[in-house]
Amino acid sequence: MHVLEYLHKPSEVNVKIIDILKQDKMSLSFEVFPPKKETSFDSVKAATESIAALGPAFMSVTYGAGGGVSHYTLDIAKNLKEKFNIPMLAHLTCVSSNKDTIHQRIEDMKAAGIKNVMALRGDLTPELIANGRDNCDYHYAVELIRELKDSDSDFCIGAACYPEKHPESANQKEDIQHLKEKVDAGADFLTTQMVFDNNLFFNFMYKLREAGVTCPVLPGIMPITNANQVERAIKLSGSFMPQRFKSLVDKFGSDPEAMKQAGIIYASDQIIDLYANGITNVHVYSMNKPDVAEGILRNVSAILGKNFAG
Ligand code: FAD
Repeated sequence: MHVLEYLHKPSEVNVKIIDILKQDKMSLSFEVFPPKKETSFDSVKAATESIAALGPAFMSVTYGAGGGVSHYTLDIAKNLKEKFNIPMLAHLTCVSSNKDTIHQRIEDMKAAGIKNVMALRGDLTPELIANGRDNCDYHYAVELIRELKDSDSDFCIGAACYPEKHPESANQKEDIQHLKEKVDAGADFLTTQMVFDNNLFFNFMYKLREAGVTCPVLPGIMPITNANQVERAIKLSGSFMPQRFKSLVDKFGSDPEAMKQAGIIYASDQIIDLYANGITNVHVYSMNKPDVAEGILRNVSAILGKNFAG
């Protein structure tokens, strides 16, 4: 693993992500996910450490759907923060939790020294869809954002947004109104669902600004590096796949090495186009894959002004 020259200074570790985003400087951040079971903890920890060693602007750690093995999110975030001085963003979902659990999670984040929280509703489980949400303590992410704001800590808060609208929304206008409620409630920045066509992101940005949403918005880029990921990514996100991308999967999908190279280059190309058009920070869904994260960083290293030491 080649390590970038630049590593975070200890004084930078407690920085708020909004302050990174406000700098007029291009940067890249990476997302990782926690292990689903104890037996995979060590391998996930090693993968996340290899990604942290690349020196991204910050890293985010997702929160298991349904809140299952939730403490791993903080375990991973705390480890990377302490070992690599990386500013960390811990995700938290609320729809499957009661107030006591959420209050406990907030206390746990404070104790772990986490300054940045991605406040999410979470996907609806089959039980929640079948039984309805009348008895739930939380119905939408905005309620969690208010709760975080009311807690006596000064969290920097991120929230999710959807350039192609959230699948449950009747239309984009309504979705953007609900998004604005999250920002008005205290979300400092937004990160998008994965986009494979930058024009969808740029069009979305026009609509957000027109609706009065002025905070920083990070485009979320998902490198697709094997053909099996494609179906899953579309199912989870509903994101549009451009023909240019589909052709690449058709041609190289059966050759793992070729598909990985093509996926890294496609994502890098999207990132360069975003930087070229005025976006300063891009968030990469690096999916615990250090080689993919490194491949992308190599392709934009001169743009970011970083040189590889190794
Ligand atoms: P909300 O903002 O609550 O929106 C959900 C839906 O409700 C939307 O259709 C919205 O328009 C609508 N809505 C909002 N407020 C109202 C209102 N007052 N009245 C009526 N309708 C309303 N999932 C995980 O389990 N763990 C993760 O770590 C995770 N990380 C994510 C990170 C990003 C960047 C993104 C984009 C998604 C992530 N998800 C994660 C998935 C996310 O939990 C789902 O997409 C979920 O279905 C919606 O979460 P939300 O926070 O966007 O919800």
